[in-house]
Amino acid sequence: MRSKTKMIHGGISKDDQTGAVSVPIYQVSTFEQESVGKHRGFEYSRTGNPTRHALEQLIADLENGKEGYAFASGMAAITSVMMLMEAGDHIILTDDVYGGSYRLMSKVLNRFGLHHSFVDTSNPQKVEESITKDTKALFIETPTNPLLKITDIQEMARIAKDHDLLLVVDNTFASPYWQRPLELGADIVLHSATKYIGGHSDVVAGLVAVRDSKLSEKLHFIQNSAGGILGPQDSWLLMRGIKTLALRMEAIEANAQKIAAFLKEHPKVSAIHYPGLKSHPGHQIAKKQGDGYGGMLSFEVGSGEAAEQVISQVNYFTLAESLGAVESLISMPAKMTHASIPAERRRELGISDGLIRISVGIEDGDDLIEDLKQAL
Ligand SMILES: *Cc1c(COP(=O)(O)O)cnc(C)c1O
Repeated sequence: MRSKTKMIHGGISKDDQTGAVSVPIYQVSTFEQESVGKHRGFEYSRTGNPTRHALEQLIADLENGKEGYAFASGMAAITSVMMLMEAGDHIILTDDVYGGSYRLMSKVLNRFGLHHSFVDTSNPQKVEESITKDTKALFIETPTNPLLKITDIQEMARIAKDHDLLLVVDNTFASPYWQRPLELGADIVLHSATKYIGGHSDVVAGLVAVRDSKLSEKLHFIQNSAGGILGPQDSWLLMRGIKTLALRMEAIEANAQKIAAFLKEHPKVSAIHYPGLKSHPGHQIAKKQGDGYGGMLSFEVGSGEAAEQVISQVNYFTLAESLGAVESLISMPAKMTHASIPAERRRELGISDGLIRISVGIEDGDDLIEDLKQAL
């Protein structure tokens, strides 16, 4: 089954009992048992719920994994994956990883003896040099936020294999429509489904898919033990969102390509970061490992004042954090999503005060370009 068909017919796409073409919302906590210990596949909704189960089968299908798991947020998913580690273990993460993942590692899990290094994973040599005897996993994001840096997933899989590490990919920015890391050798892929998978800025959720049954057993044990599960209503909303994921990603990318081409030529824009542009340093790798480049881009206008000026003048771009929905969003990373990262660290990462980030939506691309033109 090809990707577009999977979005419609993957997982458990209908209700066998009634023929309903949308999986019902099983708003229930417990299930009747026929006799003591004998149940019909479900006993308690933390352990398993039919609506969540249908979604979990679907993400496993979309990512070509063995099993899938749904969590209450992207961070709950990441936390659960980190619980596969033990005190004393060391993890290497992409240096401009999502701010919440940075905070989780450096302010929470460090207190439990989980060690970490933030490394420029777009440089495989630097990754190999950072491996210690305690390193157990590589955690990468590609493309990254907000500079859209690209890491070679196959190269990371090779390093992970050589050193017996788990390769985890946060695939939020690409979505399973454009990029499927398990097919490239990753062990675990995860998403903030709050973004492209949900796609309508109306649900917070996290999804994970794993490569083999040993990992899936461990992760299900953690999901059930720690309990950060997604509820049935939100599981249903994600399945509804996934039905149009392919259409949305195509429309978003077409707009993103147009906007990137426009910004690249604009005299007030000193730099543009979009992996779909041939001039982007990660373009060739992005092309090799994915089917598209997504709808996130960022550009520089010289100063914080200039950035605020542009943002205050746009009409069709909503000033907000988050990304990946049908409406275009605009933000200033240095003052918003990345404000919790110390200024010096931001400078090291190349996140300047004059950087503007756009999450492109599905509006008419010409309207979006005219809007940016008048604002600039
Ligand atoms: C938003 C985001 C997360 C966190 O997900 P939540 O659903 O907000 O908890 C993790 N990784 C990336 C890349 C994100 O963009």
